[in-house]
Amino acid sequence: MELSHLKDIDRNHIWHPYTSITNPPIIYPVSHAEGVYIHLADGRKLIDGMSSWWCTIHGYNVPQLNEAACKQIDKMSHVMFGGLTHEPAAQLAERLLGLLPMQLNKIFFADSGSIAVEVAMKMAIQFHAAHASSPISEAASAPSRTKFATIRSGYHGDTWHAMSVCDPVNGMHGLFGSSLPVQFFLPQPKSRFGHEFDPHDIEPLKSLLSEHSHEIAALILEPIVQGAGGMYFYSPEYLRAAATLCKEHGVLLIFDEIATGFGRTGRMFALEHAQVVPDIICIGKGLTGGYMTLSATIAQEHVAQGISQSPSPAFMHGPTFMANPLACAVASASIDLLLASPWQDRVHNIAVAMLSHLSTLSNTKGVACIRVLGAIGVVELDEPVDMQRIQPMFVDAGVWIRPFGNLVYIMPAYVITEDELSRLCEALVGVVREYLQN
Ligand SMILES: *Cc1c(COP(=O)(O)O)cnc(C)c1O
Repeated sequence: MELSHLKDIDRNHIWHPYTSITNPPIIYPVSHAEGVYIHLADGRKLIDGMSSWWCTIHGYNVPQLNEAACKQIDKMSHVMFGGLTHEPAAQLAERLLGLLPMQLNKIFFADSGSIAVEVAMKMAIQFHAAHASSPISEAASAPSRTKFATIRSGYHGDTWHAMSVCDPVNGMHGLFGSSLPVQFFLPQPKSRFGHEFDPHDIEPLKSLLSEHSHEIAALILEPIVQGAGGMYFYSPEYLRAAATLCKEHGVLLIFDEIATGFGRTGRMFALEHAQVVPDIICIGKGLTGGYMTLSATIAQEHVAQGISQSPSPAFMHGPTFMANPLACAVASASIDLLLASPWQDRVHNIAVAMLSHLSTLSNTKGVACIRVLGAIGVVELDEPVDMQRIQPMFVDAGVWIRPFGNLVYIMPAYVITEDELSRLCEALVGVVREYLQN
């Protein structure tokens, strides 16, 4: 296809994430990607700082993942999961059981992160419906715990209930108004990761639960790292205190590890920083190494047992592409590749290098804060960035970095070399300096 034709079709007919279709921003056609490089159709190649939104932990075009996909596609790309099962699902389940805390052992495979969150929220409601049910009257089984609590600046996805627990200001609440379910929002914990915990942080949750726990099905949190809602790292103590309070009040605890899973924070899952096991966990993004969409919601035994005691013991969800064999096969290969690699050392080295590079910006006017955790490096600016201006500057500097709001951040593939990482960081620092000077 002619490049100009591709651009025309795209510009006139195709929506991109969070963009206007009538006044689209600049969009760069990609021809292929390899390792940590995205090759643009015009011949330029960019070092990828985004891992395609947390996903491509091994980089692009990975021989082992390609091989897993080819092998599986020759057997079957897909088969329905209703009434049928297959080796790719069982093999992936076995691997996940080996990675997760042992209490999390009932796995629902879904098709995207947002759906994993929807599934977790439905599980929580069905769990409480079972507890509320009475053998005498059907009417008494109407669930009373139908609301959710969360902290501000979170992000949990773009579907309806997932959206309802995204930050009420930065999220999409204003736009969708009263059509969104109303949830309980708590302040973001002020105690940062690696700093002393201020016990005042937990007070709002304490008072919310003592007044409203009878309405609340679950507390949903991104443990340690809030991603798309603010790239903020908070204290593991908050999670420990929250878990204790939830248990006391019979409120389920859901961890959304869609962004943090598979090593990104320096641990396989961020919950390991806090040694807290939630009732339900959601994973996605890095699960297939960024090859295709797949997510999972994993519950503890008692949640599964609870749901099974409801008037309809079945859990009421079942997407068409549930446990897609192709995606499961690649996910297993991705986990094997991760476990066979020195990923902890790699993530640690990335953190050290990012901190030393990005810190050179810390006294720059217009820079509010530098923070690094695992393979996540964040430069927070005083003002929101002008994307139309900064995006071409990054591309001209040979890197793919896509800021949002006042956050310029990178989360490279773990396989990035020292030299590539230096070039990525130097480009970031140079562009931010130049951008702030003008
Ligand atoms: C990306 C993300 C989601 C949504 O996942 P999709 O695959 O985009 O639907 C949910 N929660 C968190 C924490 C995420 O980072």
